[in-house]
Amino acid sequence: MIVFFKHTATHAQMAEMQLHLKQSGFDSQLVPGQRICIVPKLVDQELLSHFSFISHTQVIPHAFQLSSREFKQETNFQVNGVQIGTNFANIIAGPCSVENEKQIFETAAFLAKNNIKFIRGGAYKPRTSPYSFRGLGKEGLKLIHEAAKTYQLNVVTELMDLSLLDEVATYSDIIQIGSRNMANFYLLGELGKIHTPILLKRGMQATVSEFLLAADYILSGGNEKLILCERGIRSFDPLSRNVMDIGVIPLIQSLSHLPIIADPSHGTGDARFVNALAKASMVAGANGLMVEIHPNPKAALSDANQALSFDAFEQLLAELELIKPAIQKPIDATYSLVV
Ligand code: PEP
Ligand code: MN
Repeated sequence: MIVFFKHTATHAQMAEMQLHLKQSGFDSQLVPGQRICIVPKLVDQELLSHFSFISHTQVIPHAFQLSSREFKQETNFQVNGVQIGTNFANIIAGPCSVENEKQIFETAAFLAKNNIKFIRGGAYKPRTSPYSFRGLGKEGLKLIHEAAKTYQLNVVTELMDLSLLDEVATYSDIIQIGSRNMANFYLLGELGKIHTPILLKRGMQATVSEFLLAADYILSGGNEKLILCERGIRSFDPLSRNVMDIGVIPLIQSLSHLPIIADPSHGTGDARFVNALAKASMVAGANGLMVEIHPNPKAALSDANQALSFDAFEQLLAELELIKPAIQKPIDATYSLVV
């Protein structure tokens, strides 16, 4: 349940309530900057009635609390003037990995030409094999940052480890947390303490509840700028890299106020199917897409099979234009938003 404090409540009073709850066997957690306290169990109203500085309480009928629709109706925020949120959609595209200056600048120029506002590209790559290309590290971050600055794009790049937080935050506008780190709860907790928006990808084996609880780790630290991303889940079928779980998009939107985008590139693992799954995700209501593209897909140093060529990506954009009435959300809207 969530306890909401009156505006006049002091820190000492909130701490007093927490101590009182603790003595009765209830752990609780204050959410920084929000005058609320999460109590994961149901507390008897009688116990809370002693505290005149409580405004009201709300019982959320799920394990996840702060990410739930019951707690909040919508999440909306801006990244350098571009709207992100429940009623908007955004397109993020770029290579799996930043490989060299030519590749990332060519990609940035191409995206800008097509009015795309977000470039992706990993500098620190989570690779299954330690012998695969693992990214350019800081050099890669600098390159994508420079390319984005040149073409007025926003950078989305992955943070793999807490030790790199300052470095990655310096060069990015949205920090991506990959599938493998969705359950790195300590890392998620630390991301709650910063103000950079976070793109949280679903763990490849995560249930919806686990995914939203991971989101709660970030939200309960006080960072409300959060986007979810469905990127396919593991299955038994060796013919597909993952199963793109499109059904989870409307499901999560019914449960949560957080925007959820789709990553059909990792979802299918095959460039031939990215277009179909991208459109299907958008029509299912996704708040955007993250698509891997490469100036020369065959030569990509990571995820070559799933990278769209520039032509194929332009084809996808043209087809999204055709199905716009079914998408019903402005894509990369930049008019000003009252939050
Ligand atoms: C990626 O976006 O390049 C990536 C590694 O994705 P995921 O964490 O979903 O595997
Ligand atoms: Mn990739």
